[in-house]
Amino acid sequence: MAEKDYYKILGVEKNATKDEIKSAYKRLAKKYHPDVSKEAGAAEKFKEINEAAAVLGDDKKREQYDHYGTSAQQFGYDFSGQNFGGFGFEDFANFDFDDIFDRFFGGGFSGFSSRQSRRGSSRGSDLRYDMQITLEEASTGVTKHIVIPKKDTCPKCNGTGAEDEDDVAECSECRGSGQMRQTRRTPFGIFSTVTTCSNCNGSGEVIKHKCKECNGKGVVSVERKLSIDIPRGIEDGTSLRVAGQGEAGEKNGRTGDLYVVVRIKPHEYFERRGDDIYLEIPISLVQAMLGDEVEIPTIDGKAKLKIPAGTQPETTFRMRGKGIHGMRGFGSGDQLVKVKVQIPERLNKEQKELIEKFAKISPDKEKSFFSKLRDAF
Ligand SMILES: [Zn+2]
Ligand SMILES: [Zn+2]
Repeated sequence: MAEKDYYKILGVEKNATKDEIKSAYKRLAKKYHPDVSKEAGAAEKFKEINEAAAVLGDDKKREQYDHYGTSAQQFGYDFSGQNFGGFGFEDFANFDFDDIFDRFFGGGFSGFSSRQSRRGSSRGSDLRYDMQITLEEASTGVTKHIVIPKKDTCPKCNGTGAEDEDDVAECSECRGSGQMRQTRRTPFGIFSTVTTCSNCNGSGEVIKHKCKECNGKGVVSVERKLSIDIPRGIEDGTSLRVAGQGEAGEKNGRTGDLYVVVRIKPHEYFERRGDDIYLEIPISLVQAMLGDEVEIPTIDGKAKLKIPAGTQPETTFRMRGKGIHGMRGFGSGDQLVKVKVQIPERLNKEQKELIEKFAKISPDKEKSFFSKLRDAF
């Protein structure tokens, strides 16, 4: 099998720094990610890039490669197959290139083989962030900038937890296995139990001098600024997953995810019903009788509503398309407006006279209804 030139694959010099390798990897991985590249053989190329980065991104493996020119298979990697040897690559939208590459560095890039998997590492916690938005923002969609305190891979030790690379040694208690086997002789026979090594907590290694920055944890607390895109038409209580923005895993374990829980503040006048907006407005008796055109609020600003003459109390008008903007590809909801006809509680003398005059010249349905009712008994 012909040997692969990993430097050539990444397009870097033999003496390239880690940062140069990292940026070359990111550039190429973005270009050839199977989700975005239409080029023939992109998937093959993407595999090669990952293989090259997995070797050159790790100091020990790079040194070995420089000396002996071994191929990835000899490192215990297997990049054949769809899932790149057990590690499921996220689709492009969720693909965190920094995170992936950092896992190459730390050797925590698990799943290639048992030899390579790093025991004692743990996946970072998922984080929850509660966000309040207005109903208007929920309708149009909005980009929110947030700052979250979170754990990140320690920049000083690159997540190893050790002051120096030589400070990581095999645990003498369990000889690197991370497990302790105890055999007890009892009257019922010989019992053998396997427990996690208490000296190294199952990691198989001990750190002689812990990294002072992170006290051996491999992670530090940082504040991270993020922009969160809230899609239009979002429902109250929706949880948005932001992949890879949770806490860093200890000892280069996988990074957790961030869940942004979106709550919509109650609105002063609007009530949301699905994608429709419900609103009550007061109108006068005269407006109900004679009709009017009124300006009322909608989610997108003011709009005119025509009240026809003879509008009955509690009538609901539908204003089409004036509701919440629907999720992508869907239209907007409607605004439903219920009118509350206000009956004057007091009349002055002139008003009273006019209403009495109005009563005299009006056919009185109520009166005839009550007289019929009275006659029935
Ligand atoms: Zn550290
Ligand atoms: Zn141990």
